[in-house]
Amino acid sequence: MGVVQFEKGAAVGTNGGPPAGEIIRSYAPASGELLGEVPVMSQNEIFAVVERARKAQAAWGVLPVAERCERLLRLRDAIVEHAEELVETITRECGKPRHEALAHEVTIIADLLTHYCRRAPDVLAPRPIDLHLFKHRKSYVHYTPRGVVGVISPWNYPFSIPMGDVVFALITGSAAVLKPSEVTPLTALKAKSIYNGTGLPEDLFAVVTGLGAAGQALIDAGVDKLVFTGGVETGRRVAAACGARLIPCVMELGGKAPLIACADADLERTARAIVYGGFSNAGQACISVERVYAHKDVHAQLVARVKELVGELRVGDPSKDYVDVGAIIFPKQIEIAERHIEDALAKGAELVTGGKKRPGPGQFFEPTVLANCTHEMTVMTEEIFGPIVPFAKVESNEEALSLANASHLGLNAYVFTRDTAKGRALAERIEAGSVVLNDVLVNYGATDAPFGGIKQSGYGRVHGDDALRDMAESRHVNYNRFAGPERDPLWYPYTGKSLGWMMRGVRFLFAGNGIIQRLGKLI
Ligand code: NAD
Repeated sequence: MGVVQFEKGAAVGTNGGPPAGEIIRSYAPASGELLGEVPVMSQNEIFAVVERARKAQAAWGVLPVAERCERLLRLRDAIVEHAEELVETITRECGKPRHEALAHEVTIIADLLTHYCRRAPDVLAPRPIDLHLFKHRKSYVHYTPRGVVGVISPWNYPFSIPMGDVVFALITGSAAVLKPSEVTPLTALKAKSIYNGTGLPEDLFAVVTGLGAAGQALIDAGVDKLVFTGGVETGRRVAAACGARLIPCVMELGGKAPLIACADADLERTARAIVYGGFSNAGQACISVERVYAHKDVHAQLVARVKELVGELRVGDPSKDYVDVGAIIFPKQIEIAERHIEDALAKGAELVTGGKKRPGPGQFFEPTVLANCTHEMTVMTEEIFGPIVPFAKVESNEEALSLANASHLGLNAYVFTRDTAKGRALAERIEAGSVVLNDVLVNYGATDAPFGGIKQSGYGRVHGDDALRDMAESRHVNYNRFAGPERDPLWYPYTGKSLGWMMRGVRFLFAGNGIIQRLGKLI
């Protein structure tokens, strides 16, 4: 049995199947300690898991939504009961502070379950459609389970990202098979073991472990829908694989969230939000503040205050101490940060604070602030996914807006201003799936609102009523109000007389708005 050396996002077997018999080792990024090993499952093993999930789904999917929801509340209770263990696993495997593991992961799923187990019977109730033309007929849409939903997830929020999708799948009557990141498989297995203690059908939610090829095997197993969260390049490959099989998919990809600081912003709140939004999870969030456009009237003050606040941050192993900023997930992410900084400094950026790797054990990088940044620098245009906040000074809100939109990504964005009306007007012109005024990161926790990207940040949404409906299959039923005549006027045979009546009908319905004018068309 060998240990797989994986490269982030590049691990697809060339023979079309996972390298069976290998193992993956999960290390704590904050200490280098070996936390556990999981198998690289073979394609056949993954196919068998999907088949078992399909069998379990057959009985689950016929239950009324309300009954499924009632049973799923047991999962919520179990998650809360095991919250400390979960926080510990996430903190150690992902290297993030316990506060973040609790607030950004465990709480979100406990809340999602509580809210949607209450709300789902209404959201998924059949929806009547008042047909405007065919008044003699009625229509409604009803929501049925998809079957088996595949979930492929990243390492940065190893619990809240996949489990939100899993919960939505189970509420809508599907089974869920999760392929977690090879970097954080133990968190997914912890979630599975908590699930197993609830008495819910065991095969209804399964975890398959492996590298990218295991994700490919999950798609090849013929799942009925796929929710993918990860990088843009992997997303392209996954979307193509889904496309080849016409599997509907949601793509939750990278982000490059801009923060626009207007001249009238509350500077203290803005500075604190930039620090929190830029360095939470050591900047390894798809909605991290990745670039700041500060109005020239407040730029200097803002940079100075951010520098002071960053100086107060405690960086270290979150499993040992109360720290603010934890570890960087793997060495490659540190190299990416170093490359961005080197490129920015070579092109004229000012290093305000930070800029260096911290000595081990474990992987740490100083929270870094750069000023005088421009779009010539990769730090302003490519996803950083690390603890760097670059500032650019702008002449006006219009300039900030145009720079914010000069990106191939469009996931989240932030606007800071005391003028809500102006802020909302600006927000509506920003090319991003979500725009937040005077706050950061908060929208991911508002699980009743849609979350997802535009441009190359992906498509489809997770969270919110529409995403729940979309997790199900929507089907349309159309039926008659009254027993109809033997033959409808539009049916065969086609005659000159019937065409004449049809022509008058079209004119009556669509020529002009006045009833007298339209009645005249009937003659
Ligand atoms: P990644 O793309 O490297 O991997 C994501 C998942 O895809 C992993 O489970 C991996 O094993 C799997 N995978 C890799 N190749 C595959 C293939 N060919 N077929 C099927 N599955 C395959 O991403 P990552 O490094 O784990 O996560 C970081 C990225 O995720 C960042 O770009 C970040 O912005 C993005 N992200 C987006 C969101 C969002 O909601 N939009 C949330 C979190 C992270």
